[in-house]
Amino acid sequence: MTNEKVSYILNELKKLYPEAECELNFRTPFQLLIAVVLSAQTTDKKVNEVTERLFADYPDLDSMLTISEEVLQERIKKIGLYKTKSKNIMNLCKMLKEQYDGVIPNTFEDLIKLPGVGRKTANVVLSNAFSIPAIAVDTHVFRVSNRIGMVQGKNVLDTEYQLMEKIPRGQWSEAHHMLIWHGRRICKAQNPNCVNCPLNTVCKYYQGIGDKA
Ligand code: SF4
Repeated sequence: MTNEKVSYILNELKKLYPEAECELNFRTPFQLLIAVVLSAQTTDKKVNEVTERLFADYPDLDSMLTISEEVLQERIKKIGLYKTKSKNIMNLCKMLKEQYDGVIPNTFEDLIKLPGVGRKTANVVLSNAFSIPAIAVDTHVFRVSNRIGMVQGKNVLDTEYQLMEKIPRGQWSEAHHMLIWHGRRICKAQNPNCVNCPLNTVCKYYQGIGDKA
């Protein structure tokens, strides 16, 4: 796909979602980190429901370290994989305290050393907590960017690298949010609303449907 087309797509997405941003609620880098770890294989809405009360009682690292894994399990059991997530969060908190003086690291290399933190989580934290350009490829970013034809990624890592090549660095974080919003609202996994999508004139997936029709 040409740079002009990529630029057109980003402009159209910006018109559609001028307010696109992270949909997880948080007040500090610590809270964002916990919220993103909790968000694996569940919706941001469910995470926000759980963290509203969790962060009211345990807003920071020191207060989170006062509770046991069992208590944390009880507090987050409404969301999937809560046992694994509780374990990871408690180990992550201990590691932050012991190895990082309680400060959330602001490098990719350090973030991915934390339990339960992979590429996607690290990139979300870098981008949203520290305003460091990053493209976190979740299921929406992967699906939408490949459908449109911005990239032809075999997997999320491949997609992340290709998106970083195609999109100017200063727009990485914004593009990440807009692709997620588009995936949640119009370009859904099942039955994408192509007819009403402003990208349908350049979208390879839609052009493919057109060819078959
Ligand atoms: S035209 Fe359809 S497949 Fe393409 S981006 Fe829009 S909703 Fe997604």
